[in-house]
Amino acid sequence: MGFFDAPALNHHEQVVFGHDEETGLKAIIAIHNTSLGPALGGCRVWNYDNEDAAIRDVLRLSEGMTYKSALAGLNLGGGKSVIIGRVSEIGNEAAFRAFGRLVDSLGGRYVAAEDVNTTPQMMEWVHEETDNVAGLSPELGGSGDPSPFTAYGTFVGIKAAANKAYGSDSLEGKVIAVQGLGHVGIYLVEHLSKAGAKVIVTDIKEDRIKDMLKYKNVSAVAPDEIYDVEMDVFAPCALGSSVNDETIDRLKCQVIAGAANNVLSDYDKHGKILLDRGVLYAPDYAINAGGVINVYGELEGYNEKRSYARVNHIYNILQEIFQLSQDEKIPTMDAADRLAEERIRKIGRLKQMRRSGKRIFTKI
Ligand code: NAD
Repeated sequence: MGFFDAPALNHHEQVVFGHDEETGLKAIIAIHNTSLGPALGGCRVWNYDNEDAAIRDVLRLSEGMTYKSALAGLNLGGGKSVIIGRVSEIGNEAAFRAFGRLVDSLGGRYVAAEDVNTTPQMMEWVHEETDNVAGLSPELGGSGDPSPFTAYGTFVGIKAAANKAYGSDSLEGKVIAVQGLGHVGIYLVEHLSKAGAKVIVTDIKEDRIKDMLKYKNVSAVAPDEIYDVEMDVFAPCALGSSVNDETIDRLKCQVIAGAANNVLSDYDKHGKILLDRGVLYAPDYAINAGGVINVYGELEGYNEKRSYARVNHIYNILQEIFQLSQDEKIPTMDAADRLAEERIRKIGRLKQMRRSGKRIFTKI
């Protein structure tokens, strides 16, 4: 099968391969859709087994960004980039400036940001060659670490889910199990504790657990025990696929709402099981959009207050998703996809009309 017929290409507008012999840079930029705006997405450094794996990954991730930004109400399209190799070999100024030139050659259609294995320093090197980069450090006028915003959005999303499941968004006395105390988890635990929830935490790193016990109403269990505790809400904030064939029957909660990406190991199968059981699942890309919402602010002049205000909107988006899921009896992931696609269609069409100079409204 040729490249253009590959199913993974799924409506991508553009895929660019960049190679710099001097630095050894091998990069792929995938632009999935720019109907709503420039394709913003992280740049990931990964030592892929082969080039096919890198291509598959970048295509999958960039499509995901189209949906995430559209649903979050941002004027952004979806894109992503991968740099093939180890950070120890490729994580240097020369390679990242070569990557910056590749980004610049796209004239703003793609905007790079941090992702797995990339750092604010690397983005600053990219910035030496192009303005089309976001997620810079605050010293450079950027928005810094997105994790507190992701955590706040997740907190707001848990409240929206509680409102649907329990008829009130107060988390007072609710038992919430947080799996993973990394960049996002630590801020989430703080919000939940302040809101009066009983928080049960776990992590594979002991010291991270100890740090969290300073907050009110926080207790801890071993990593594998988290699935079996009596809880109202399960908040996965570690790696993906924590809801899988082995764990789904153990979870006794009414809500699953956390920041981790790809929470359900099989979206169709597990999404349907949760729907049938009446367990409310907050789609990952809806509830964890706080980070991209914050980074987006850089494109229009960064303002922290405005970012937090926008992140609050995750509450309403989830309410819409839950309502559509209930009305149509479809898994919440499918409802989220539908709402994202609808926005791309409606707003994307308006933007195109504006671009081509057609008038949308007439006086008579
Ligand atoms: P992180 O790497 O800083 O933290 C992950 C934590 O999970 C670590 O403390 C790790 O020890 C722990 N962990 C790993 N496996 C575990 C297990 N089996 N049981 C318990 N704990 C385990 O990552 P992060 O930035 O906090 O992100 C957390 C999740 O949220 C990831 O899935 C990430 O893709 C997603 N996410 C993060 C952001 C962001 O702004 N950081 C944005 C969107 C989505």
